[in-house]
Amino acid sequence: MDTTDSIIVYRLSHTCDLSDVREETVYIGKVQGFANFGTFVQLNDRIKGLVHKSNIRTEHRERENILVRVVKIRDNGNIDLSEELIPRYETRVVERSSPAVRLSDLASKKGRTVMIEGEVSQIKQTGGPTIFTIVDESGTENAAAFVEAGVRAYPEVELGDEVRIIGEVMQRNNQLQVEVESMTVLTGTEAETVRNRIETALELRSEPADIPFLVESEVLERLKPAMKQVAKQIRKAVFTAQPIILRHHADADGICSAVAIEQAVVSLIRDSGGDFDADYFLFKRSPSKAPFYEVEDITRDMDFALKDHVRFGQKLPLIVLTDNGSTEEDMPSLRFAKIYGLSILTIDHHHPDTIVDDYLVGHVNPYHQGGDFGITAGMLGTEVARLINPSVEPIVRHLPAVAGTGDRSEAPERQRYIDLVRSEYSDDDLKEMALALDYTQFFLRFNDGRELVKDILNMTGNPERFRALKKLIAEQANDAIEEQMSACMPHVVHRDLANGAHLFLIDVEIHAHKFTFPPPGKTSGEVHDRLCRTYEGKPVVTLGFGPDFAVLRSRGVMMNIPRMVRELRDEIPGGGISGGGHLVVGSIKFVEGMRDTVLEALITKISSAGTGS
Ligand code: MN
Repeated sequence: MDTTDSIIVYRLSHTCDLSDVREETVYIGKVQGFANFGTFVQLNDRIKGLVHKSNIRTEHRERENILVRVVKIRDNGNIDLSEELIPRYETRVVERSSPAVRLSDLASKKGRTVMIEGEVSQIKQTGGPTIFTIVDESGTENAAAFVEAGVRAYPEVELGDEVRIIGEVMQRNNQLQVEVESMTVLTGTEAETVRNRIETALELRSEPADIPFLVESEVLERLKPAMKQVAKQIRKAVFTAQPIILRHHADADGICSAVAIEQAVVSLIRDSGGDFDADYFLFKRSPSKAPFYEVEDITRDMDFALKDHVRFGQKLPLIVLTDNGSTEEDMPSLRFAKIYGLSILTIDHHHPDTIVDDYLVGHVNPYHQGGDFGITAGMLGTEVARLINPSVEPIVRHLPAVAGTGDRSEAPERQRYIDLVRSEYSDDDLKEMALALDYTQFFLRFNDGRELVKDILNMTGNPERFRALKKLIAEQANDAIEEQMSACMPHVVHRDLANGAHLFLIDVEIHAHKFTFPPPGKTSGEVHDRLCRTYEGKPVVTLGFGPDFAVLRSRGVMMNIPRMVRELRDEIPGGGISGGGHLVVGSIKFVEGMRDTVLEALITKISSAGTGS
């Protein structure tokens, strides 16, 4: 058929709104109803106009097709039409010309049919519909598609696809959701356009705010670019609905760092849309017993992550390590993660080994910028948390003071963080909070104690309960420590070393209570603190040991424990030696049958270390 001379009439697709209607254009409509002044005509489900009776040419019935010309679109949105009689015409469908509705604008479109474009970041099959989590440049929302209860809708749609969805915006259980009418996987340039649009906007949106730190610090200033880079990657993970696993050393410093980051991430997840409980399945905080990412830890993490990936269509996680993650001891786990292509970020103050940086996508460490472990993980984590989400500042600003107290930081930053919260917390408060964290974590074992820990840190807006809880736990912890000290102090053995240091040895296996608080590391630390007070101003090293381990604490002796451990490993074949930690606070493991040989070799190394502060 020759169509060159035929007249074109338009059909509005159902996503079109008023902005797509043009005056002097002819549309195919449907007769909706009659009034005595004229006939109402629908141009699509949402747009209707009126043909005044003077402009009606023929007789009609309801639901009948009718050709109408748009005479005028009035300011109030009313459309004046006139009937057209065209014997021969060609039809063209008008697709919506305005861009897709941004997910952050969905709340204002409830009850309306919209078109959205975005990337599929999760596909969850429920007993009813299939839930697709969609991410665009502005936010995250769910789209529900239903074919049959429990049956996967749109099986061709895969995680990471760019899609165009048409559907109605609904509110379900206080949560927005698009009920899918149609979903198309975009390909070629269309997919690329959407992907680029999301990526460009995400880059901007993930950029952390440029805010000053809570305290003055040259080291922190020099660390700022690394901190912003880490904060940006965490923000990006949140905005793309990528799960985050936060692993931290299970002591007061590590907990403070992780809790600050947890608060920032969880509130950002809630703000950015998606499931109402997204903060629970997209974020997991887990304490690690060792100050490094143990193979046991990553094995558990990968087990859960891979199951969630298969069962709930979740992306593989971003792993964030704090108060651990920067030493050679982390390497077995980092290698494990690399096989799955996982991204790992580290925020740590342990003396770093450069090899880890081949496996990390971001690493904040004061040693990189002329600082040391005195800038604790809790200080770093809290500042990173503020970069991730500045709104958390009021509830996390005291955490660096707790962390610095718990880790006995001697950096000038510690006092500045304490001064920042002086009006709210005394030194004793900070000590009790740090002790209460250690004590509670001992009984929590592998659990995060998400809400309990917040109460201990006065983050739940109940200061009376906080005071009572902190006081009670600290009392119990102190009683337990006193009990332990009364049992073990009489068995401490004193040795004078060649370098003038006082060495104290305590066998915590036979002279301390086992499987209770304080554990061997903390027991040795308490013994050390008491001896440091007795030998005020003198170099002191305390060695608490069991059958196959030793814990080292030192003051005024210039040691490098990680290096000593590596040397012993090479020098004593069959010693089964491993370990590490900070330069002057750390631990070493060995096989039981070689204990005396290892300990004597260790003591020889300590006695040749320089003294002074
Ligand atoms: Mn620490």
